[in-house]
Amino acid sequence: TATAATADAAVTAALPYQDPALPVATRVDDLLARMSLDEKIGQMTQAERGSVTPADITSYRLGSVLSGGGSAPTPNTATSWADMYDRFANAALGTPLGIPMIYGSDAVHGHNNVVGATIFPHNIGLGATRDPELVRQIGRATAEEVAGTGVNWTFAPCLCVVRNDRWGRSYESFGEQPALVGTMTSVIDGLQGPALGGPASVLATAKHYLGDGGTTNGTDQGNTQLSEAELRAVHLPPFAEAVRRNVGSVMISYSSWNGQKLHGHGYLINDLLKGELGFDGFVVSDWNGIDQLDGATGFTAAEVRQAVNAGIDMVMAPTGWQQFIGYLRAEVQAGRVSQARIDDANRRILTKKFALGLFERSLADRSYTSTVGSAAHRALARQAVAKSQVLLKNEGGILPLATANNRIFVAGKSADNIGYASGGWTISWQGGSGAITPGTTILQGIRNTVASSSTVTYNATGTGIDSSYRAAIAVVGETPYAEGRGDRTGGMGLDSTDLATLDRLRAAGVPVIVVLVSGRPLDIAAQLPNWRALLAAWLPGTEGGGVADVLFGVRPPTGKLPVSWMSSAGQQPINEGDGKTPLFPYGHGLGYPGQPPTTPPPTTPPPTTPPPTTAPPSTPPAGAGCQVTYAVNEWNGGFSGNLTIRNTGGAALSGWTLGFTFPSTGQRVVQGWSARWSQSGTAVTASNETWNANLAAGASVGIGFNGSHTGSNPRPTGFTLNGQS
Ligand code: BGC
Repeated sequence: TATAATADAAVTAALPYQDPALPVATRVDDLLARMSLDEKIGQMTQAERGSVTPADITSYRLGSVLSGGGSAPTPNTATSWADMYDRFANAALGTPLGIPMIYGSDAVHGHNNVVGATIFPHNIGLGATRDPELVRQIGRATAEEVAGTGVNWTFAPCLCVVRNDRWGRSYESFGEQPALVGTMTSVIDGLQGPALGGPASVLATAKHYLGDGGTTNGTDQGNTQLSEAELRAVHLPPFAEAVRRNVGSVMISYSSWNGQKLHGHGYLINDLLKGELGFDGFVVSDWNGIDQLDGATGFTAAEVRQAVNAGIDMVMAPTGWQQFIGYLRAEVQAGRVSQARIDDANRRILTKKFALGLFERSLADRSYTSTVGSAAHRALARQAVAKSQVLLKNEGGILPLATANNRIFVAGKSADNIGYASGGWTISWQGGSGAITPGTTILQGIRNTVASSSTVTYNATGTGIDSSYRAAIAVVGETPYAEGRGDRTGGMGLDSTDLATLDRLRAAGVPVIVVLVSGRPLDIAAQLPNWRALLAAWLPGTEGGGVADVLFGVRPPTGKLPVSWMSSAGQQPINEGDGKTPLFPYGHGLGYPGQPPTTPPPTTPPPTTPPPTTAPPSTPPAGAGCQVTYAVNEWNGGFSGNLTIRNTGGAALSGWTLGFTFPSTGQRVVQGWSARWSQSGTAVTASNETWNANLAAGASVGIGFNGSHTGSNPRPTGFTLNGQS
């Protein structure tokens, strides 16, 4: 029939770039050769959803749209997000070349702009878990929720290494140490999936390049004053790790390095990131970031030229996208931005669009919509909340609390508040208060955990407490905030509401257990003696049950401080190894009496776990007596286990190196380790396959570890100590 003939003709007429059987590079070359300058500039432009219509997408050939912090369709449901995405996606498909849309959103702790999504702990809490495999799983769960709304790109993870907790974005950091932040790039493997273009594969963004966490006084968007060697040692390693994991995009930081804005920094973007590190994805600017190059408001031709020539491939020009397009066209026509630079930017963007499979699957994948806020994802989040809790003080072993036959008083403004527990970047940009999205508050988590023989009384301000209670739990801390804070010269203490609540509890003479909900350490040294226990809960998100799990011993506290905890605000910046005396050192975190010194078992049993390999005691390293025992679980893509080292010699073991040995090391590449030591305060550095630490004579240390690797199920055959097996 005529219809069949037309269809056949269409199939044979398919252009090379439309043919999924061809290599991506061939498809990109073919497509590029068909594109006009305007189409190429359109691919380099990202507009905000509220400032652009589907008709604009078609006429300006725009390649990308974003939801800025909290910008959502009405109603704010997963389905209406998917509908919105499809409207933009269809507009892009309706252009002559039909180049698909890439849609970006800040899914930085779950798909946090969407009401009903699972809100995971912010990065600072995930850093405390020291569990890269758990963090990878969180990335996977987040990607499924993101994919279910059609969004195919997230502006996460933030790989800032926070060096001054005054910075208002401290909670977006996994911690103060580059190695710790580096191991947590495992989240990229979760977000993007094993390969770009697989099921629910969402493009990740390593941000903000470079040095955003190192600004003087913690000023947001400030200046990072460091030698190049220091910049490379402290702030670059997580980005190198992200590039190794094939991160699809990198976002540039608003901050400056030694006075020069990153958005125009050709050396750091072109030479270091793309050249030296070999980053092959695309570089996106931050929101109006290039507009800051000349200090005046509004894009100028010079700013556009400087940014694009410095290596920025896509410009987030939320409302000013038309000006951006006009300036870039003029700059190319005048020869001040080369055609080759435009082609390079397009090649990078289009390569990722092809790799993501967008040319074959352009519309929202609604098979994932039901995963948004699913029970399985909430269970994972609850587990992460529990693992992120850091027990800082537990005088007389008051924790864990008995679940049965107990009378508990709960107070504090953060106890029954999902918004406060979630912090900034939740539903709205700066976060909110109260029931902004469904979830379980810490108070509800406590109520759900105690036995029916116990009573829980709640009063936010602590009014009504009397001495008949055995313990009061005070859930206090920071109210939500996002960008723009920092460089506070004043205190970093509890607010007057919290102090008044705590005074009421203290006056009643009951033991007080403080649960601190905050994005960073607070200045609490003066109050600490009044508290029997202190649990740092960070910003746990929607699954407050995880906090209750630790309070009542359903799960042990295993979290370790991802940052040094200041003795006073005046100590900022304070970081491990800088000679200052913190209130609690980096890595501090108590367990419960009788709790095994190592990590709990792997977070989720892998599908095909071979039986653990148990090794006999190994030979001691030269000059010291030493005994090592271990058990390892290994599966495709990951491993976990624990080991014990006993120093049987007469002198301290120092500067030794511990590593895995495998039958064929060529089979695999370890992508990250995290080691958790039973001795608090022991300095540990972990880099790929080695750890270094000091161990006193006669002492033993237990280490739990988690990691991931590529390669086919290689079985470890042993450990090496100082190179000897
Ligand atoms: C923030 C980025 C974020 C972007 C888009 C900026 O203000 O610095 O982290 O990805 O907005 O919402």
